[in-house]
Amino acid sequence: HTTSPGPLEVPDPETAPGPTSVDLPRVEAAVRELLDAIGEDAERNGLLDTPARVARMYAEVCGGLHEDPRRHLRTTFDADHDEMIMVRDIAFHSLCEHHLVPFFGRAHVAYIPNEEGRITGLSKLARLTLGYARRPQVQERLTSQIAATLDRVLQPLGVGVVIEATHLCMTMRGVKQVVRAGDFVAVVADSWWRANEALKKVKVDWDTGDHGAASDAT
Ligand code: ZN
Repeated sequence: HTTSPGPLEVPDPETAPGPTSVDLPRVEAAVRELLDAIGEDAERNGLLDTPARVARMYAEVCGGLHEDPRRHLRTTFDADHDEMIMVRDIAFHSLCEHHLVPFFGRAHVAYIPNEEGRITGLSKLARLTLGYARRPQVQERLTSQIAATLDRVLQPLGVGVVIEATHLCMTMRGVKQVVRAGDFVAVVADSWWRANEALKKVKVDWDTGDHGAASDAT
């Protein structure tokens, strides 16, 4: 995917629309229509239950639309912790909003707590990731939404998010002649840093997860 990321969609709590729900009968009707439109027979035996099944599946994989992922960060701790916190290999599945087929992979999320040492539970980072993944998405916006939400809620000194993903719309379509499934992995990174002289000395090595002070030579 080479499209530029859309605008950050991290609404303010005061103005955020409330949860809606998936209209299952409407999805069923749309799937029946889709099956007929591609030249299938939605009434044939093997497809009879498919529209209802697909509707339930969409309700699940798009469930993130009907929750506010920020709620996972509501509970924070003052842990007096000032080291970088990193969770690697958060497995996620999302839906490419251009083709409505899955893209999936792993998210790596890191942040440096602020001076108060405000942190969140490690599992909450996974829930936050899944909340933004379970909806029609693009990888770039998913990355930015996770980073922006962490930045707003925890107000850390810095936050970095890296997402590696395979896109079925790339691997299952015409380009499959040159790309084997699993070979195409798109990596998108986003990081936000608060102005802080000390942070210029921090570097992140995403391969090892190590971090340390860079040379003072500069
Ligand atoms: Zn796509």
